[in-house]
Amino acid sequence: MRLGAHVSVGGKIYKAVERAVKIGCECLQIFVGNPRQWRLVPYPEEDLEAFRRLREEAGLDPLVAHTPYLVNLASPHPSYSRNSIAATIFCMQTMERLGGLGVVTHIGSRKGASWPEAKGRVLRAIRQILEATSTTLLLLENSAGSGDHLGATFEELREIFEGLGWHPRVGICLDSAHLFAAGWDLSTPKGVEAMLEAFDETVGLDRLKLFHLNDSRAPLGSHRDRHENIGEGEIGLMGFLAIVRHPKLEGIAGIIETPGFNQTGPDRKNLSILKQLREGSLGREGGRRARGLASPLCSKGTHEALWPRDSHRTSPKGL
Ligand SMILES: [Zn+2]
Ligand SMILES: [Zn+2]
Repeated sequence: MRLGAHVSVGGKIYKAVERAVKIGCECLQIFVGNPRQWRLVPYPEEDLEAFRRLREEAGLDPLVAHTPYLVNLASPHPSYSRNSIAATIFCMQTMERLGGLGVVTHIGSRKGASWPEAKGRVLRAIRQILEATSTTLLLLENSAGSGDHLGATFEELREIFEGLGWHPRVGICLDSAHLFAAGWDLSTPKGVEAMLEAFDETVGLDRLKLFHLNDSRAPLGSHRDRHENIGEGEIGLMGFLAIVRHPKLEGIAGIIETPGFNQTGPDRKNLSILKQLREGSLGREGGRRARGLASPLCSKGTHEALWPRDSHRTSPKGL
């Protein structure tokens, strides 16, 4: 796997590349604009040019974007739905200008509607998004299944692909923390294997384009979305070892969205643990040592205002 992180675009969009390089990324994920606002302001061409040049120099590949937290492709409210579609198109078009692989999005929330009804809305939204774009992929992210959130099962994801006639520009981003919370025990190689087999049978591994590598603070099957640093959560180092070294995942990008050992967001230490697992320089014993060293910085339950709660907040009430 190629390993990278979600990095901030604060200041200028191309600053993201510098931040990615600084923590040792091989690939990167960004937000396009402010993830808590609908405001869509196209980037000046010179900023995008600087981004392309810096990324090329750093050899970071692939580049992906994540849609704003607000996006709900299943929203029953026409104006909210329009905003969600427009924001996703804007992300996709910016990725097309930057030569990115695609845009990751949470599918959204049913808001009390039935699955067939919600699916109809999701399909209509995705068709509009695909019509307005031409090269980049739309990557649907699996959810932890909290509340009304769609896409917690591979069967639901499959039905979306079927509804879109298996459109070639639609793919999947699997998030390890969401999988775990949805009931897939990724803490053992056997569990990882079982999940990948089920995914292959139901959706197809050829549709898997990206992995979000986050440990889970929430227990197995809890349907709660709480990201944890690699090795500090319920999945643990053995699970990540099985993922990053899995032959079927070779060449796929893995992006961390972890709280950070200093609670500053995705960091060098999380990435370095994953790289060591990938390279085989952090075995079972080494893994335990790494865990022991990491703990003093990061005691569980003290994470405030971190990635998980901030980033995967449900849409504002009533929307
Ligand atoms: Zn994720
Ligand atoms: Zn999450």
